[in-house]
Amino acid sequence: MKKSICIVVALFLVFGLTKNAKSQETIKRTEKKDYHIPEGMIHKIEKTDAEWRKELGDEQFKILRQCSTEPPFTGKYYKHKENGVYICAGCGQELFDSKTKYESGSGWPSFFAVVDKSKITQIVDTAYGMVRTEIKCSKCDGHLGHVFTDGPEPTGLRYCVNSGALDFVEKMKE
Ligand SMILES: [Zn+2]
Repeated sequence: MKKSICIVVALFLVFGLTKNAKSQETIKRTEKKDYHIPEGMIHKIEKTDAEWRKELGDEQFKILRQCSTEPPFTGKYYKHKENGVYICAGCGQELFDSKTKYESGSGWPSFFAVVDKSKITQIVDTAYGMVRTEIKCSKCDGHLGHVFTDGPEPTGLRYCVNSGALDFVEKMKE
């Protein structure tokens, strides 16, 4: 008699757990499907390497997706002085205003501020025996360059960015 009660209880538990797990799965799926992004949060872009390579071309793919660095004094924007906004070449997110661009002498486009801090993810990078802070686009995770603390006022920061990670949108004259 006791044994059969045990079996019933065990079955109950197993059934209960399975049912619970199933309903949790449904909730998860529904959450994903109806996921609402609160204002200010960035909707991530995810693509496969093959898709990125096709879209970006070899040179930009190497920089944005494989963290490569273009040789200094070679990129299209290091001497660029137009009035406008630099956007991510991977996803078009606005990153740097031309008003914050300055001549750092490094051979890469340099900025002392980001349009908005939420646009960039910072990661500690210990490659090549150095401790540096890598900067990535927060929307597509594309590698942009590094940020250093030897920049000019008012921030003291130097966002050192590959030209190949950027596109430029000219501002209409006001
Ligand atoms: Zn991006």
